[in-house]
Amino acid sequence: MPERISLKKRTRIESFSHLGRDVTFGAVRIESETCDGCGFCLKPCPAHALEVIGKKARMVEDMPFCIACGDCVAICPQNAIMITSYLQFNFHFKYLDRGEPRPPRKF
Ligand code: SF4
Ligand code: SF4
Repeated sequence: MPERISLKKRTRIESFSHLGRDVTFGAVRIESETCDGCGFCLKPCPAHALEVIGKKARMVEDMPFCIACGDCVAICPQNAIMITSYLQFNFHFKYLDRGEPRPPRKF
């Protein structure tokens, strides 16, 4: 039996501006031992969620709006980045189970 959705919920549109309530952003983990600070990962990131401090890349501390696109993972020559969680809407636009985050295909 499919879940019934109330009228109130049906007319509600999830918003990126309601962080934590409507949407949970993605995240990546960067192995600091492997990262050499080249900065390649910063360029394709559509969310400007990464920075290099002291020759090591990391997620920006102030609101990393990572959408878990995997571009940084694909471009990193050191294989130092891994997606740890996906972008997730919390109400209607729930994703189906996609299993564990996996790195994108490299060319
Ligand atoms: S691309 Fe990889 S090695 Fe280069 S700064 Fe980013 S995480 Fe570090
Ligand atoms: S997964 Fe995409 S949005 Fe997230 S930090 Fe990497 S390039 Fe940026």
